[in-house]
Amino acid sequence: MTIESDQSYARIEKEIDCLKDQLSGRTYDMYELDLLRSAAAKAAGFWPECSVCQNSLEAISGLLKDAAEPSRMRGAVLKNYSKTFRKVVKHLQENHGIVRRSILMRSLFGGMLLGALPGLAASVAGIIMQDNAIVAIGFGTLFLGIVLGIWLGLRAGRRRSAEAEAEGRFL
Ligand SMILES: [Zn+2]
Repeated sequence: MTIESDQSYARIEKEIDCLKDQLSGRTYDMYELDLLRSAAAKAAGFWPECSVCQNSLEAISGLLKDAAEPSRMRGAVLKNYSKTFRKVVKHLQENHGIVRRSILMRSLFGGMLLGALPGLAASVAGIIMQDNAIVAIGFGTLFLGIVLGIWLGLRAGRRRSAEAEAEGRFL
């Protein structure tokens, strides 16, 4: 971090602390302010080498101003809030290898879907060709594929989680 990014992050952190006192717990969670704090910390870390992250810190300051006035957080303001928030997080994920905590579940489901594909394709082909044997093979493969996919997905997810943890890449 540079002095400039340090100051900028310190200011954001202070503002979020104020919001935590100011807003109800439900509103604080709804605005995902803990996640925003974490995103600000990461953006501050990439500040020297990345102009997008410099802009992200500015954008986050703007979001905090909106969050401070819940009565304004509707319609276009709310829409802009979630859009800007998503953009900041997406940049960290795509350009700096930052990952979300949900990575394990996402790997599991990804594996499950991939595993289901061959069996699904065979089942559909069997149904189209009206061939019961192929349908039976398809369903058998579907079950095996799902089990195998979950297992592989979990394994890959655990490995990616552990790597992200060790490298401090979790948001
Ligand atoms: Zn960046």
